Amino acid sequence: MNLPEKLIASDTVNTTCCYCGVGCGVTAAVADNQVVAVAGDNQHPANKGRLCIKGSSLHETQSSPDRLLSPMLHGKPVDWDTALDYGAAKFRDIIEQHGPDAVAFYLSGQLLTEDYYVANKLMKGFVGTANIDTNSRLCMASAVVAHKRAFGSDAVPGCYEDLEQTDVLIMVGSNTAYAHPVVYQRIAKAKEERPDMKIVVLDPRRTATCEIADIHLPLRPGTDAYFFNGLLTYLADHNGIDQDFVDTHTNGFDDSLAAARGQVPDITAAAHLCQLERADVEKVYQLFAQNDKVVTVFSQGVNQSSSGVDKGNALINCHLASGKIGKPGATPFSITGQPNAMGGREVGGLANQLAAHMGFDKPEDIHRVEQFWQAPNMARKEGLKAVDMFRAIEEGKIKAVWIMATNPAVTMPEAGRVRKALEKCDLVMVSDCIGNTDTAKLADLVLPATTWSEKHGTVTNSERCISLQKGFLNAPGEARHDWEIICQFAQKLGYGEHFSYSHQVDIFREHAALSGLDNNHSRGFNISALEEIDKKDYENFAPLRWPVTDQSPEGTDRLFTDGRFYTPDGRARFIPIEARLPVNTPAADQVILNTGRIRDQWHTMSRTGTAAKLLGHVDEPYIDIHPEDIERFGLIEGDLAVLANQGQRYFGRVKKSADQREGEVFVPMHWNGKYAASSCADALVNAVVDPICGQPEFKHSPVRISPF
Ligand code: SF4
Repeated sequence: MNLPEKLIASDTVNTTCCYCGVGCGVTAAVADNQVVAVAGDNQHPANKGRLCIKGSSLHETQSSPDRLLSPMLHGKPVDWDTALDYGAAKFRDIIEQHGPDAVAFYLSGQLLTEDYYVANKLMKGFVGTANIDTNSRLCMASAVVAHKRAFGSDAVPGCYEDLEQTDVLIMVGSNTAYAHPVVYQRIAKAKEERPDMKIVVLDPRRTATCEIADIHLPLRPGTDAYFFNGLLTYLADHNGIDQDFVDTHTNGFDDSLAAARGQVPDITAAAHLCQLERADVEKVYQLFAQNDKVVTVFSQGVNQSSSGVDKGNALINCHLASGKIGKPGATPFSITGQPNAMGGREVGGLANQLAAHMGFDKPEDIHRVEQFWQAPNMARKEGLKAVDMFRAIEEGKIKAVWIMATNPAVTMPEAGRVRKALEKCDLVMVSDCIGNTDTAKLADLVLPATTWSEKHGTVTNSERCISLQKGFLNAPGEARHDWEIICQFAQKLGYGEHFSYSHQVDIFREHAALSGLDNNHSRGFNISALEEIDKKDYENFAPLRWPVTDQSPEGTDRLFTDGRFYTPDGRARFIPIEARLPVNTPAADQVILNTGRIRDQWHTMSRTGTAAKLLGHVDEPYIDIHPEDIERFGLIEGDLAVLANQGQRYFGRVKKSADQREGEVFVPMHWNGKYAASSCADALVNAVVDPICGQPEFKHSPVRISPF
């Protein structure tokens, strides 16, 4: 892509987009402490010069009238010392009186890895609780556990090139065209160049992604694992098993096949269970079985489910059984929602993780991290996952929470209940760049944080690629970097000497050193070759896919190329899957609510909502609904309708759409108190979670619908 004229004429800086998990490289033109234009970074492996409309509007969304410029205590500006003294004193009192599990942090995939690292270190090593979870719980937790169960560690085996090099690309529960637009552009280009490449979309809705699909299978919501159990049976019955790979590199195939066959014995059963045409199912099964190069991309349609972990393993089972893994154009591929969902996982951002892909399930891991940090109060058990964490706040068990760079009063399931819980919590601290989010309005203490173009540190995208998000503008007002705020808070709690970093590179080096400690191919994440990176190299960090070790100093494009996995015996594990339907079924007068992203908005719109161009695509909340349902519920196309559940209501414009299945509606997740107070979609979502990973079922809540 050529740079715009404006960009050539100015100072330029290479950085990374702050929105989705594609992790595109951005070249920003800077003048007078402003970004005046942006273009895709031609050298970045994620996007090779491309940007989507959100990324190409970054410079139009950098200034907000709602920018938070000073710490605010109970609505009044205060200096930093007063703010941090207040927060730390409250934390200390609560810990002394009620123990460390009475406090919590709730983080975000928008934070940089260095921010995430120090937050985890403070809570898990020094405060002494693992009550630190993140909005990645809402996004990727299912895939994390599916990876760990199958591979022994949370690791995405492939890279973006695999999506272009494959002969059959199956996208499951992934509207890539809207949620990961540059990945979609890369796939569309590959399809244009190689029209024989087959693209299959499995999704209850016909989404924009289907425009490039050869086959769209509008399966019954929640039946993905039935589909892949059927595929495993089919592979066994149609010469689709790579027996040599199975025998040499895996364990547990027979049990998994027995479970799959017991539930889905043939194509007819699969078609029936998934409510699909038998011939269509057979066509996709044949494509999978008859091609060596198959990639299965999965995203929120799989993850945001009460059986998301099992769905992930059901599809991974099929790749292991057919040996379609660790090879160019052949891999299962989990694609992340947020820019640093994976970086957060690397430092143990989830309540059930320890840093550097270690876990509470292994006493030796706890001991290793404790020693490395010289931690005086090491947490020894998992903390509360997001939904349980906000329940504990509601019940008064957690009395202080610090929420960083996210807006759970809008984005959590049963968001209305989360608001009420925060209202009665003894101390709510929020650090954010925007001062009037729905969550910040509920806070006692609001701390101004830096944002994209000001903050500086690393992020890891969906293909394990670590990039630098560069700080090149001066922070406005009194805004500080998240890692600095956390370290200053640690100092106030009395742990200053362990948090005395002078620059982000100090944190990165420590993080890299921990990743390599006693890690002889036993944990996936390892960037030990970077533990002595100097400041200059860090400032010019070229994107690298982990692991980055002495054996792979240039990074690693694909994992498991030698058939060796991260389990103790080096063999991948099949997981027997008993597929199950979503927990809640709709009554006769209800429809199923499915929430998701639209193309031009990001999360709760605090940034993208400020650009007229981005509102041009969709400018108000809506409800996509099948024509028969419009008739059935007495609605009028173009008029307002109301969805209701949990005592909450969502108002949206009725959009007739034959792309929806009957009985199901789709609504965007983005609108909130600032833009449309009565259209918070996630307030209607039941807080039903996957029992293994705690990820909520955002795609399947029964709701009532009526004309306004
Ligand atoms: Fe940014 Fe994602 Fe768009 Fe790339 S695809 S420019 S990372 S929003």
